[in-house]
This record gives sequence, C-alpha cells and structure tokens, in this order.
Amino acid sequence: MSEERSLNFLEEIIEEDLKSGKYKFIVTRFPPEPNGYLHIGHASSICLNFGLTRKYPGFTNLRFDDTNPVTEETEYVESIKEDVKWLGFEWKHERYASDYFGTLYEYALQLIDKGLAYVDDSSSEEMAAMKGTPTEPGVNSPYRDRTVEENRDLFVRMKNGEFPDGSRTLRAKIDMAHINMLMRDPILYRIKHAHHHRTGDQWCIYPMYDFAHGQSDSIEEITHSICTLEFVPHRELYDWLIEKLEIYPSHQYEFARRNINYTVTSKRKLLQLVNEKYVSGWDDPRMPTISGLRRRGYTPESVREFCDRIGVAKRENMVDVGLLEFCVREHLNKIALRRMVVFDPLRVVITNYTGSGEWLQSENNPEDPQGGSRSVPFSRELYIERDDFMEVPPKKYFRLAPGQMVRLKSAFIIRCDEVIKDEEGKVQELRCTYFPESKSGADTSGLSVKGTLHWVSIQHAVPVEVRLYDRLFRVEDPTDEAGDFKDYLNPDSLKVLPGVYAEPALADAVLSDRFQFIRMGYFVLDRDSQPGKLIFNKTVGLKDAWAKEVKKGG
Ligand code: ATP
Ligand code: MG
Repeated sequence: MSEERSLNFLEEIIEEDLKSGKYKFIVTRFPPEPNGYLHIGHASSICLNFGLTRKYPGFTNLRFDDTNPVTEETEYVESIKEDVKWLGFEWKHERYASDYFGTLYEYALQLIDKGLAYVDDSSSEEMAAMKGTPTEPGVNSPYRDRTVEENRDLFVRMKNGEFPDGSRTLRAKIDMAHINMLMRDPILYRIKHAHHHRTGDQWCIYPMYDFAHGQSDSIEEITHSICTLEFVPHRELYDWLIEKLEIYPSHQYEFARRNINYTVTSKRKLLQLVNEKYVSGWDDPRMPTISGLRRRGYTPESVREFCDRIGVAKRENMVDVGLLEFCVREHLNKIALRRMVVFDPLRVVITNYTGSGEWLQSENNPEDPQGGSRSVPFSRELYIERDDFMEVPPKKYFRLAPGQMVRLKSAFIIRCDEVIKDEEGKVQELRCTYFPESKSGADTSGLSVKGTLHWVSIQHAVPVEVRLYDRLFRVEDPTDEAGDFKDYLNPDSLKVLPGVYAEPALADAVLSDRFQFIRMGYFVLDRDSQPGKLIFNKTVGLKDAWAKEVKKGG
C-alpha cells in the first residue's frame, strides 16, 4: 500500500544510533494511561512506536501508566490491549507502572539519602504561592532544610498511612529559582488513600507522572522514549532524575500530537460524551476511538496507512478527516464484497417477464480476480432507488425515465414504458419491458445504454436497517470555539433508515465482512444485529462523482 517514504527525524536518529554502535537494538514503549479508550491520536503513537521496532532490530513494550488510582479501570486496560492487537501489533512485555511502585519507593529513599528530596508539609495553595512565575524566582519552602533522618522518617510514615491526603508531599530538592518552572522542587509523591485497580490498598502514596515515567523507562531499558511535544519542558527533569539515581539512561524524544478535525481527541472529553449519553458508548461508530472506528468498519490496514501518511512532525497541526476517509475507501475498494441494497424503494414491474424467476451471477469484487461471484435472484417485480427515476429528466440523465433505457446491474436492459401514480401524484410503480437477449455477460441485443442501476428482487429481498453517520461536530475544532465543546455537536450525525431492502446474499453477513453497497457506499454489519434483524453501519461514502462534475462546472 505505502510507497517509499523518506526517513522521519526519529528514524534518522535511530539509524545513526545503530550505525555508531550506541545500540545493537532499540526498545520503545507505548505508555497509555488506562483512563479511557484509545483514540485515533493514540493510533499515531502506536504505529510510530511499534513501527520503529518492526523496521529496526528491537522490541516494544506495552506499559500502562497507572499511577493515578482514581481514574483508572481494568475495563480500559482490556480495551487498550484489544485495540493495539487489532491494529496489528504485538508487544514484547506487558508492564504496568504499578509493577514498579516498590522500586520507585526505593528510588525515592535514595534521593532522600543523597539530600535530593524532602518532605514538605505545605498545602498545595502554599506551594503554589511559593512557586514564583516564569519571570520571578520562587521561594524556598520552610521545610526544605529538614535533615535526611527526618525526611526518611516522615516519608516512611507517609507510606505507612499515618497522614491524611494532601497533608504532605515528597519533593525533589533542585532549585526554586530555576528558569524551568518544572525544576522548582517538583513533587515526586503525594498521599492518596485510594483503591488502585491493581495494587488494591497496598499503597496510600502514589508517584507523580514525572517520577514514574522516566524511571519506568529506565527499568525497562527503553532506548528511545517517544512522547508528545507538551513533554518537552519535562525532559530536563526526566534527565535529572535518571542522572541522580544513576540508573539506565533512557532518552526522551518528542513529536507533535496528531489531532483530526470535526472531532475531539482527548479521553477526558470523549468520556463526557459517553457519560452524558451524547453517544451510545466508547465504541459508538461516530467516536474517533479505535473501537469506534472498528465498529464503523475501518480496517487496521487503513488506520495504519493513515498514520503512516500523516507521518511524524515536530509541529502541531490539524489533520483533515478526509484523509482518514480516503485511506479506508482505498482499502475497502480492494477488499469489499459488492452487494445490491435499495435504500428508498420504487417498485418496477417487468411486464414481459413471464418466468417465475432466475438466479444470475454477479462478481463479488471487480478489483479482486480471486473474489469469485454470487447468485442474485431476478424476477418480475423489483425495487430500484426512487431517485434513479425522473419523470422529466434533465439532459445527460442516464438513469430511468419514461421511454429511456438502463441496464440493471448483472442482469438485463430495461425500458420504462409507463408510470403509475397515486392520487397525490406520487410515483408508485414503473411498468417496464426487459430485453432477454441483453443479459450481462452474454449480451447480443446490440442495445447500448449509459446508465447501470442497482436493484433487488422484491420477492427475495431481505429487509435490513442501515445507519448513516455524519461528522460528530459541526465545526473543525470544537475545543477552539466559545463556550462548551459539546455545544458544537452535529445534531444530524446519526440517521437510521429502518426500511431498506438487501439482496439475499447479505443475510449471511458476519462482522468481519466488508461490503460495498453498489453506488451507495461502504458498509459493515453492526454488532447490535440479531438473526432476522440485520443492521449495517455506513463506513464511508464512495467517491462522489457527481460532486466532482459540479466542481468542474459540468
Ligand atoms: P488524552 O489527552 O487523550 O488522555 P494522553 O496523552 O493523556 O491523551 P495517554 O494515555 O497518556 O493519553 O497517551 C499514551 C501515549 O499516546 C502517549 O505517549 C501520548 O503522548 C500519545 N498520544 C496521546 N494522544 C495523542 C495524539 N493526539 N497524537 C499523538 N500521540 C498521542
Ligand atoms: Mg495523559
């Protein structure tokens, strides 16, 4: 699928590191916090981290950054594993920052012993007041000069649960006048009497992100620790901690967060949409989550291709969701089974068809020579799309109109002879003639027509439900607008069509199938389907040839 691309800046660094012999192999990690489901932005990070060790010798760990007991859940851990696997990647080790709580505690004691950390009794308000500003230095905490013994004693007692939440913290002793605010005696540990999804009630002190992340990297001997740009100012602390602890020197590299338009990519915001029932769940097909994309009918190949195409950048930018749609359309065109489904039925009676019906062959996928074919029933009464007929057609209208001919896909050429209307003048039925010698694949009729329509035999048709999706938000960047981002939800993002008619081959659809409903778009079976009640989700439309014509001024 992907053509040759030039190296991104991380590949350049890695090639240099391998060439110089700095590393014989590389180790990366994907470090999600299990506080929500993964979204398309995470897919970028997954493809990058796992992609590098697929390309170069080495391996990738899946590490759950589970240092925040309040927001984390096992359900999220399971969904993250499923999503990474679905994307097609395998991790070497499954690790949890919480596996290292014991080691991290030891590291904290080492810093205390070196005079590089102290227990501070200041409240968070007091600490904020002493922090200074980017242009003014902070002031030292009155607890900064505690002795090693006192710090050790207090820290052990913090761990033993002697103090209430928020009453004390452990802080690194760096420099309250440091130009980098994050280096002004950052907090390493806080007291939190909370149940953790893995360690239960074993701990009541929890390490802060900065004191867990780099140390976990080091414990796992991660060579290239890749994160997003907002962590650039954290790198100094990352390096300081590793240096002072004299542990394995992992290195942090940053790349730009990937965001796509007309949606939000923040677990916290997506959680609001789920909790407040704006969507049916994390895997609602409108969600930019990996599970939502999967349910929508996206393939792992198409998501990987998207991530590959947007590549790795050093500057933040908004990616057009159209590119994601392009990638899935390209892939589905190659693999999707063609089927005929009529969304808005108009009855056609073939007046000169006297048989009781016959089964015609139709290819499953013209793009795939191995795709084979299926049988499609033809009979005297058919449905076509209501908007494939016009009583008074404009010029160049190649569909059905009085006296005009079209081909029915994989079947015969028909001509419309008569239009039957109800009292209100609404077209109810078309009376047509078919040309028996115009059968597709064996056409000896000598007739030539420009339009081909999809259709189903009424007697054989399977009624199904179809769910059409549009963008979740009305604006490109809902977080960049005044007020709440939820004010910008698109009220028409879901449209349910209950009375849709499908050819009988669709009755055997399974979740892993991908379909192109001919002329209507790409579809996938939804997991809400039940025997006798099939539901299909629209993944993406076909390329809109009509819109292109309009653009050309045709
Ligand atoms: P969110 O704000 O959605 O919770 P996060 O960065 O807090 O995102 P984490 O679980 O901490 O989520 O992320 C795991 C990894 O995925 C991190 O390395 C993070 O940098 C990366 N990541 C998250 N969002 C994006 C994004 N939009 N583009 C690229 N990488 C991302
Ligand atoms: Mg996070």
